[in-house]
Amino acid sequence: MSAPAPTEHGLFVDGKWVLPAGTGRFSTRNPATGEVLGTFVSARPADVEAAVTAASKAFPGWKETPAPKRGEILLKAAEILRGRKESVARVVTREMGKVIAEGRGDVQEAIDFIEYMAGEGRRLAGETVPSELHHKFCLTIRQPKGVVACITPWNFPTAIPNWKIAAALVCGNSVVFKPASNTALCAYEVVKVYEDAGVPPGVLNFVTGAGSVVGDALVGDPRVRAISFTGGVEAGREVYVKGARQLKMVHLELGGKNPVIVMDDADLHLALEGVLFGAFGTSGQRCTATSRVVLHEKVYDEFLGMLLERLKTFRVGDPLDPSTEMGPVASADQEKKVLEYIDIGQKEGARLRVGGHKLTGGAYDRGHFISPTIFETRHGTRISKEEIFGPVLSVIKVHDYEEAVRVANDVDYGLSSSIYTRDVNRAFRAVGDLEAGITYVNAPTIGAEVQLPFGGVKNTGNGGREAGSAAIEEFTEIKTVFIDFSARLQKAQIDPR
Ligand code: NAD
Repeated sequence: MSAPAPTEHGLFVDGKWVLPAGTGRFSTRNPATGEVLGTFVSARPADVEAAVTAASKAFPGWKETPAPKRGEILLKAAEILRGRKESVARVVTREMGKVIAEGRGDVQEAIDFIEYMAGEGRRLAGETVPSELHHKFCLTIRQPKGVVACITPWNFPTAIPNWKIAAALVCGNSVVFKPASNTALCAYEVVKVYEDAGVPPGVLNFVTGAGSVVGDALVGDPRVRAISFTGGVEAGREVYVKGARQLKMVHLELGGKNPVIVMDDADLHLALEGVLFGAFGTSGQRCTATSRVVLHEKVYDEFLGMLLERLKTFRVGDPLDPSTEMGPVASADQEKKVLEYIDIGQKEGARLRVGGHKLTGGAYDRGHFISPTIFETRHGTRISKEEIFGPVLSVIKVHDYEEAVRVANDVDYGLSSSIYTRDVNRAFRAVGDLEAGITYVNAPTIGAEVQLPFGGVKNTGNGGREAGSAAIEEFTEIKTVFIDFSARLQKAQIDPR
């Protein structure tokens, strides 16, 4: 089947697709083949300003739209995306490189979340609490924040934008969405769904271009009241600091260095499948990817042997082929960064057990393929502590549970974590002991479900959570309301008791 021709896409501002005169263009490429997929506008600060103006203008009308009605538009968006699931999944795989089953999963997660948020249109609950005074009624209501900026990475190019956009919209905010440049076509597909679902003009706007220009202009615009950012620590810190100067709400979802602890009583076959999926699914480019196996010494040789044996038949190749287990990494930049870390690992004395190189020859030469890589290393090396965001797994030997937890926790991040054990007491202890926003028992570090909160501790973020019941916290202000129907001045804390 021949590949579709590259398409040209504008910005989406005030309900119209525009190609502003005088702007540059950039393209996205298939990381498996190098083919150009689409061209997009390198927006300038003035284009961002126009998008924020449109969002500001649209905000009052959207805020006044009853929340159940907003939810109905989301339901329509979910239905449209479900109808396009296969075609959008193929765009995900062609543009980002994850295997097609995961491309479908990315889109399914988006559908699930939009549906979940649509229901929120009929909840958005506040609290009703008693007053200390007579004939006084106290409650809270949720109100939208205003114009919000959604800035997203490339690794879940339909799911993550929807986590933000659907939640922001149902809460009554207007949105300016800025995606990662290398997955701009996926982002276009996301915006198209909302346009086709009937989101009113200006309520959702779309700007493309460099983070340092477009993202920066968005974060700096005083009319943007909240920023929802997912990406790396470096950019996240810049966004946080810049937003803080204007006292904006900045929600950060950043990196991870996620451990799987395999104890001596674990079901090793189950752990093997979990570690492989966690480490090499999405070519290791999930914020929740398993990048460390913390392995009990009693099962160390056996489990490592099982891993190495299984990798002999691990299929890396065309991500559109359903039998492929791992596709390319997402870009030339990713390839460079991952190969640099492999080099660092070797220089710092870690023992390379498998992989460790770019795959070449035949179809590999057209793309960014890296062989699944396993290092044996002591805890404390850079590869055991820094986020690599690629198919590189560090295996670390430990003596007992206490050491395993110490090693697992001794990193700057705290997103996901996992323990394989058959000991129920130890499993429950680990739930309390592991410093992470997410802990799995007898399951890999990946596998979020939209109805549960998602996020982490330490450098993984700044305390918030996305998805689940937490999603509306991110995108609403709470208003506290006192209604006094006593017809006299009552003074809390002062009137006689
Ligand atoms: P990145 O930080 O390079 O970019 C993320 C987004 O921020 C992009 O849209 C980029 O253009 C924009 N950006 C960059 N500099 C900016 C600036 N100064 N101001 C405003 N915007 C700016 O990250 P990436 O390479 O796209 O994604 C990979 C990272 O994302 C990894 O560290 C991964 O762990 C993290 N991630 C975290 C989660 C999570 O939920 N915790 C989920 C997925 C990815």
